[in-house]
This record gives sequence, C-alpha cells and structure tokens, in this order.
Amino acid sequence: MQLQDISHFLEAHYPLQLQESYDNAGLIYGRPNLEITGALISLDVTEAIVAEAIQSNCNLIIAHHPIVFKGLKRLNGKNYVERVVELCIQNGIALYAIHTNLDNHSSGVNAKIAAKLGLQNCKVLRPMSGLLHKLEVYVPDTHFLKVDQAILNAGAGQIGNYKDCHFRSAGTGTFMPTGKAQPHIGKLNHREEVQELKLEYVVENHLRSAVLKAMAAAHPYEEVAFHLIPTQNVHQERGAGLVGTLEQPVETRAFLEQIKQTFGCGCVKHTAIIQPFIQTVALCGGAGSFLLPDAISAKADIYISSDFKYHEFFDADGHLVIADIGHYESEQYTSELLAEQLTENFPNFAVRLTKLNTNPVNYL
Ligand SMILES: [Zn+2]
Repeated sequence: MQLQDISHFLEAHYPLQLQESYDNAGLIYGRPNLEITGALISLDVTEAIVAEAIQSNCNLIIAHHPIVFKGLKRLNGKNYVERVVELCIQNGIALYAIHTNLDNHSSGVNAKIAAKLGLQNCKVLRPMSGLLHKLEVYVPDTHFLKVDQAILNAGAGQIGNYKDCHFRSAGTGTFMPTGKAQPHIGKLNHREEVQELKLEYVVENHLRSAVLKAMAAAHPYEEVAFHLIPTQNVHQERGAGLVGTLEQPVETRAFLEQIKQTFGCGCVKHTAIIQPFIQTVALCGGAGSFLLPDAISAKADIYISSDFKYHEFFDADGHLVIADIGHYESEQYTSELLAEQLTENFPNFAVRLTKLNTNPVNYL
C-alpha cells in the first residue's frame, strides 16, 4: 500500500477543493510513493501521537487538524509544531490532514455527530456555492449515446439524490473545415450543416478534467464544441453544519444531559432553556459560532457546536438554545469515521485508532 493509494481514496470522497481558503488539508509530509506499514488516525498530532505511531509501527498519521497551518521558517524545536514535524521527519512518518474538506461534506464530521444523536432528514446548514459548473456540448445525433454515457460515467449529471441528469435540445450545427483539418464529417473549405444535439450537465469542479477527457475521447469531432460555465448554484450536499430532526421531541434538559453523556463532555455550556422540548437540532463540529444565524434561520430548537465567546452566547436571543460542548468533544468521532471508511475500503491494511485523548482542555 502506497501513501498515494490512501490519499487518492480520501480525496475522491472528500475533495481538497472543499477546504476553506485558510486551511492546509492534504498531504503535509511524505512522498506519495512511500510504502505504508500502517496508519494511525487521530484528531490532532502531538509528540505523544508520534510516539504512539512509532510504537505501533505506523508510518502515516492521518489527523483532522493540520499540524502545519502556516509557513514554517525554522525547525529548531521551540514549539510543539516544530518538534512534531522534526520527529516525523526523523522517523520517516508521513503526515496527512483531512480538515475542512471533511467538515464541508454532508457525510463527514457533522454526519457522524448527527448519527450519534440519532438525527433524521439531515440537511447542510450553509450549503456552498462555487462548486458546480455547467457543461454544454454539441454532438451529432449519431454519437449522442456514446458521448452521453462517457460524460455520465465520469461523474457529471449528479443533482442531489438524482444521477444521470441531463437536458438535451436539437438544432443545427454549422462549420467549415480549413487548413490542416481532418474532419469527421464534411470536406475542406466547404460549409457543412449537421443535425446536432446540445447536451447540458451539472459538473462538480473536482470532476471537470475527468469529464472533459471522457467527453473528448468519446466525441467524433476533431474540435469538440463545448462550454464549461461556472454557476452560482449552491451544492446542497456540501457546506458547513447540518440540521436534522429527532424522531420524537425530547425534554430540553434531558437532551442536554444526553449530549453530555454521548460526547463525554466535561461540561456543556448552554444558554437559557427557552422551550420545554427539542426536536430540530442544528450542529457543527469544531468552532461553529459563525453558523448561528443559519441555525436560527433553519428554526432549530438547539444549536450544538463549540468555541463560543461570551458575547456570542447573547446572540441566541430567545431564538434557540446554544450548547457549547467543547471543540475536541464535538469532533472526537471524526477519527472513528475515518478508521471505518479506510478499514472498509482497504480490509487488509493496518488502520489504528489512537488510544490517546489529545484534548488540551481539562475540566475540574
Ligand atoms: Zn476542529
């Protein structure tokens, strides 16, 4: 198993394009062709985690939080980031981070939290835009099926739970082959008219090159006429936070107790209990105060996240209950999610969940 087999698998599910502009997700240290003896999965990378990797014969650490976030100009061990990187280099341990690209995926960090709470009918709280293009391509009637199939097989035409979506319209294409052209239809310097279909598809950004390659390979023309147009549409399955519902309303205080149990919280900081029952639950793993307006718009009864500042608690303002369950606590099951997916896809590969708790916050 090479490092690139693992990174390709993870990035096919959680494309790096989904990460936020400030992030540094992806392969941080290690050659793509490095033979991997085992992968240790954790939320953070600390010196203790590197020691665990060495002891358990893992030469890859897959962490949610990137240990290197901004430029490192020196490596002289003056802080834990420099020491961790140095230790990894000295011991030949690769570092891979899967961060906001996992946060911004409807089956990532937040899906795991929602599953732990038993939420149903989950939707992304703040869907992302800028992830979708529209592809228009002109095909002679004779080659419609072949080109359509190639484009769909490459992953275009996916809208929510619907696949193989396209729109087609008939028309006439005209062209005149000139110079060194070797036309599939027609003769040099003669204007041709051909009955063509215009096919239109939604294409996710990270699939663009694969789709265009498949389209060109299946298309009979020497020069394929097509447009790839960015759209402002939001992608309903990608973005920050989730909102879903509990099967039955749960008494508010009992629900707060349940959260505390489920996530092993040292404490749950919450705003005033403003209604007796909870049914609609919004959530975001990690620092999620920025999504409070979206949770309020979604008419959630409670918003579960972490890292709220004092003044931000006031913004609940009688709309909902804010429950700050702690950053580590909210994201701890991310490691479990990654370990499950890797084990399922690479059954004979050594995937190990860390036994350490890397939470830097303690409670009295
Ligand atoms: Zn986090």
